[in-house]
Amino acid sequence: MSKRDYYEVLGVSRDVGEQELKSAYRKLALKYHPDRNPNDRTAEERFKEAAEAYAVLADADKRARYDKFGHAGVGGGGTPGFDPSTFADFNDIFGNLGDIFGFGDIFGAGRRRRGSRRGADLRYDLPISLEDTESGTEATLQVPREEPCDRCAGSGAAAGSRPETCPQCQGRGQVRYQQGFLTVARPCGACRGAGTFIRNPCDACHGNGRVSRERKLKVKVPAGIDTGQQLRLQGEGEHGPHGGEPGDLYVVIHVQEHPLFRREGSDLLCSIPVSYPTLVLGGTITVPTLNGDETLHVPKGTQGDARLRLRGKGLPHVSGRGRGDLYIDVKVAVPTSVSGEQKALIEDLDRMMPQRSFEPDEHGDSRPFFSRVKDIFG
Ligand SMILES: [Zn+2]
Ligand SMILES: [Zn+2]
Repeated sequence: MSKRDYYEVLGVSRDVGEQELKSAYRKLALKYHPDRNPNDRTAEERFKEAAEAYAVLADADKRARYDKFGHAGVGGGGTPGFDPSTFADFNDIFGNLGDIFGFGDIFGAGRRRRGSRRGADLRYDLPISLEDTESGTEATLQVPREEPCDRCAGSGAAAGSRPETCPQCQGRGQVRYQQGFLTVARPCGACRGAGTFIRNPCDACHGNGRVSRERKLKVKVPAGIDTGQQLRLQGEGEHGPHGGEPGDLYVVIHVQEHPLFRREGSDLLCSIPVSYPTLVLGGTITVPTLNGDETLHVPKGTQGDARLRLRGKGLPHVSGRGRGDLYIDVKVAVPTSVSGEQKALIEDLDRMMPQRSFEPDEHGDSRPFFSRVKDIFG
């Protein structure tokens, strides 16, 4: 698809003036703004296209080059097309359109009430045991957060007084200034966007309108949850200043180490010592799971580094469907002291074992294992 002419994109004539250009762009930007057209790709394309066209035509240099050479004149490096990196304020245009035009709340009722900002999100690190993730659990959190001050009902002003209108911004909470051809609005520095100032601050909150308070919150922790996963408690973060909506509370899960089990996703791993005779002849052993002991069959001839599996004895998947497996890493149990009779039997066994003559390997080499290894490493 060939690129559309910038003047055509903005629906203006080639001799358009600064004011008309700006208002044409403003109209398109409002019409196609992503906030007003959620999940509409065409609108998003139109919005970007208009931003690109405006960025070029509003800049006298770029406009002159565009008039002379077309898209090739402003593509950067001779490549036709749009390179967002060539103008640094693209993100401003795209992301903070409301700020640039100085009417922050036009894109949705209440999204940005004048002078009130959304409160901060909070993070709570919650340690839980591996057993908790087996069954799921309910945890009680002690969360300190800023809440509206009772004494002044959140106004921040001492009893008998009221916040007064900020003289700097006349209560608007914003100051506007001209930046090139754009009017930029920023929160008022004198009242920090509140639009008011407090002559006699409240004793309890020192004029903040908010005080820190501990609360108890209950949170359901689903089975199968893992370290680093988060639970979001909407609206349980800090209250916003000046009546702004509260932020969210994120509960970050930390599953503690278990003395017996290691965890890999939904699978559990566990090392179990198994006696040499059981490994050679086969047999059954008792293994622990998070839900009590289980019997596991050890096949005969099991090697000393074998891994055996108990299907479905791991942790539940956090999706709620199915479970992981439990893997048993075999460890050869070597007794540190033996009775006289055991010693005699083991010595008999040792004499009968083919310890020094090995089965030939695939090259017909029948020397002991470690002589072959010595060859390999020179
Ligand atoms: Zn107060
Ligand atoms: Zn002010």
